Amino acid sequence: MLQGLGSSAYWHETSQRVPNPAVTGRHDVDVAIVGGGYTGLWTAYHLLEADPSLRVAVMEREVIGFGASGRNGGFAMTLLDMGLDQLRCNYGDARAAAAHRAVATSIDEMGATVAERGIDCEWRHGGLMTVATNRGQLERIERDLAAATAMGLDGIRPLNADDARAEVHSPTYLGGLREEHCAVLHPAKLVRGLATVVEEMGAIIFEGTDVTSMVDSLGRVRLTTPAGAVVADQVVLATNAWASQTEWFRHKVVPLYTYVIMTEPLTDAQWDAVGWDSHCGIEDKRNFVHYYRRTVDGRILWGGSDGVIHLNGRIAARQDRNDGVSARLERTFRRTFPQLSSVRFTHHWGGPVGITVSFMPMFGTLSDGRLHYGLGYNGHGVAPSHTGAKVLRDKVLGKSTDLTDLCFVDSPEPRFPPEPLCWISAELTRRSLLRQDARFDRGHGSGSMDPLLLRVMKKLG
Ligand SMILES: Cc1cc2nc3c(=O)[nH]c(=O)nc-3n(C[C@H](O)[C@H](O)[C@H](O)COP(=O)(O)OP(=O)(O)OC[C@H]3O[C@@H](n4cnc5c(N)ncnc54)[C@H](O)[C@@H]3O)c2cc1C
Repeated sequence: MLQGLGSSAYWHETSQRVPNPAVTGRHDVDVAIVGGGYTGLWTAYHLLEADPSLRVAVMEREVIGFGASGRNGGFAMTLLDMGLDQLRCNYGDARAAAAHRAVATSIDEMGATVAERGIDCEWRHGGLMTVATNRGQLERIERDLAAATAMGLDGIRPLNADDARAEVHSPTYLGGLREEHCAVLHPAKLVRGLATVVEEMGAIIFEGTDVTSMVDSLGRVRLTTPAGAVVADQVVLATNAWASQTEWFRHKVVPLYTYVIMTEPLTDAQWDAVGWDSHCGIEDKRNFVHYYRRTVDGRILWGGSDGVIHLNGRIAARQDRNDGVSARLERTFRRTFPQLSSVRFTHHWGGPVGITVSFMPMFGTLSDGRLHYGLGYNGHGVAPSHTGAKVLRDKVLGKSTDLTDLCFVDSPEPRFPPEPLCWISAELTRRSLLRQDARFDRGHGSGSMDPLLLRVMKKLG
């Protein structure tokens, strides 16, 4: 079942769970959730916490955590796929601050739930260091710091080059910022631990269960699977990148493959040479960020650098590795940490995330009111999926709250054009972003967006 992930997916090697059986026959529930990742499981969690009498079923095509939730870098961070400066420009001070605070609250709540429910997912609340490795990135960080002050956000402070290099020894750091609201965790242990918790709370989880159609059935929704059906009053679609394969989201979400590599465990001498003794996560400020973190067994996970979009939004197991991206990741690792030139890489894998035109996630309800969706986190869904799941809870329960008023809820999301224009425009955008990253590295350009990219986005919007 874990075809494609194989032994390369370190997180799956180091977390065990015996899959549940698939749906057979007919099951009647109040809420059916399609997708067994963080969005689906946190939604089940919040619903059952609000109303333990609800009958909730989670339906997962493969196994719990098969998607990005079992493969990610494990950064629970406030980022909604754009810097604070951009968020503020797009939504204004009040709405941008509300979104940031909602996700920061989620990180605290996730930490509390993990502790209270005994989910052993190697949760380490070490904060985040965003570093600049060239002048253009430094300007972006300065603008984010100004935005944080203007929005009245706390827990964010500037770092000069000496501060950043004192924390972690890389000759590439020119400065940065430190944010307290960030934890790193073992993603597969979180998603599987959460599955156990929601089962204890009363949810039924079906694995190996492909939902092949959802149709009206006497005022309810019938979700058909190869060996049975679930009939529900309300449905939550939590399939992220895979939503692009449905008629509703075909032109609103595009799958993008993103990749990581992982080192062997470092020796004590190697850790001393890097000086990185906390569990703070690190990101740079490229468009296609590099992000890296320690694991509890002393490895470094190193990810980002590029993303790959396939024609017709293809999602397939053979895309779970990419030797070109892996080689580029290794080169930037060695440039960042020349003192680790002899360290070997033991794992490489990737997975699809859902990209939207606005670079923001989408939460909403389809017109007949029984199908709610939460997807399209772009590169950052670990903590936003917890926030979004509370939005989905409120939608299912028919409540209007501060959460259902957040800027990424019920907002009209622009469409990508049909294929092959979709792939061409997404590819143009990707190349434009990479070109800007390269220009910054050569010391040219400012922190603002590439003019070509702005034109493409205007056309798409
Ligand atoms: C390599 C990588 C690194 C990342 N690093 C980070 C990070 O460090 N921090 C961060 O915030 N974000 C990161 N992300 C993104 C983050 O992992 C995702 O945003 C998040 O996991 C999305 O969760 P989800 O539950 O919405 O979707 P997913 O976890 O993708 O779950 C969707 C599930 O739906 C199932 N499904 C699809 N179709 C059907 C169907 N028809 N019937 C039944 N089931 C179906 C799939 O099998 C899948 O398991 C990363 C992603 C990747 C790939």
